[in-house]
Amino acid sequence: MKKKFKAIAVLLCAALVFAVFTACGNGKKEEELSKYTINAVYDEENKTVSAEMTLSYVNGTDAILDEVCFHLYPAAFREGARFSPVPTDMVSTAYPEGMSFGGIAVNYVTLAGQNQTVEIAGEDEDILVVALPEDGKLYPGEKAEIGVGFTLEIPCVRHRFGYTGSTVNLGNWYPVACVFEDGNFVTDPYYANGDPFYSDCADYEVNLTVPERLTVASTGSATVSANEGKKTYSIAAENVRDFAAVIGEFKMLGTEVDGIDVNYYYVNDASPETSLTAAADSIKTFGNLFGKYPYESYSAVETSFLHGGMEYPGLTMISDLVNGDLYTEVIIHETAHQWWYAAVGNNEVTHAWMDEGLTEFSTSLFYENNPSYNVDYDKRMAVALSAYILYYDSFKHINKDTSMTRKVSEYSDGFEYTYMNYVKGELMFEALRNALGDENFFGGLKTYYEEYKFKNARPDDMIGCFEKASGRQLKSFFDSWLEGKVGMYGGMNG
Ligand SMILES: [Zn+2]
Repeated sequence: MKKKFKAIAVLLCAALVFAVFTACGNGKKEEELSKYTINAVYDEENKTVSAEMTLSYVNGTDAILDEVCFHLYPAAFREGARFSPVPTDMVSTAYPEGMSFGGIAVNYVTLAGQNQTVEIAGEDEDILVVALPEDGKLYPGEKAEIGVGFTLEIPCVRHRFGYTGSTVNLGNWYPVACVFEDGNFVTDPYYANGDPFYSDCADYEVNLTVPERLTVASTGSATVSANEGKKTYSIAAENVRDFAAVIGEFKMLGTEVDGIDVNYYYVNDASPETSLTAAADSIKTFGNLFGKYPYESYSAVETSFLHGGMEYPGLTMISDLVNGDLYTEVIIHETAHQWWYAAVGNNEVTHAWMDEGLTEFSTSLFYENNPSYNVDYDKRMAVALSAYILYYDSFKHINKDTSMTRKVSEYSDGFEYTYMNYVKGELMFEALRNALGDENFFGGLKTYYEEYKFKNARPDDMIGCFEKASGRQLKSFFDSWLEGKVGMYGGMNG
């Protein structure tokens, strides 16, 4: 059964606009954001980065804070780290030249310009704690000026933070403030499964200096200046929940879609026009389906990476290990993450289905809306369903847990994580679409995007948007899928 969009009458448009402003509660006031200013210099010979960061941290919570915590994600790449960022079955792919270690050294911390002791905590010595003095506690809306000097040692690894071949990935590379939620900073370590990250939107000003012959692709918009064999990229990015860059000897193709600069950086891609077109078509299609892409530019980058790809705000890493139609699909999938992860955030450690399930489903929606790609939507759903049934059948005898409410670290391996969050997640959204009908389903999605863009959403926030759009109670629908009660027989309710 092929689904078609109904023509939207003027009246319905008015109803939707009304829904956007009333559904999901309150229109919160625009709050001032924290701002990161980072000056970083890449040393190509030693594969290090020296950086000075100042953060104007705004307490955007309702609590009085006596400390501010930061993730030190590069610490996961050090020798002796308790949690490896590389899944055990992918070690040889990840480290093509043998084991390699890296990390982050925090050289100093300042508070309002005054030197502080450097305090490292966390389950894996991966959290920087900046204690606030008794008379300097941070009330809601107040600001603290925090300075951090740090040095990065980049490991030789095909990963978010690492180099191999001619590209250097700087993902999750600087101390990023932890999200404060339910009375605590969320300090999960760097697990191997999934994308174990969670952060708040902030503004960024980053100056990254590299040797002159290299190119930097990054989050945000850059101006470039050259000086004595070096090049500095001055990059501004507003309202982004992370800042990533890839350094390399790239060729680049660019185009414009709906006023957005879409760039494709590549090294070996034999058909770069196809890849650029997939990125541009994705920006257009998802903009039409969910709401306009929220930034001025978008870059997809062919780089060295152990999984298919990785998403960052305004930037996606696409693995050079992937080819052909799958490479195109990775571009589409990672671009969909600009809506579900970059714009609308969620805790990717505890609710990976919210971004991965919806992104995988969005990839199928892309194909449905772009028949020239020759991938049939219904066939994709059928394949996902039979794959899931096969998985379910193989494991039901041992009472395998099929819940999607687990932390990424609680899945036994990447295989189980993928089946639960991508495959079952996609099937859940397809079942929801069938139950609600297109008008309510897409109305709910648009509201979810508009209402939670630049924020962090929780499961109930998403469910609430679909409930408002459809006028139906959907808690038990979601619970049965998320808690693992849905079997794949008897109308998905066994
Ligand atoms: Zn994904």
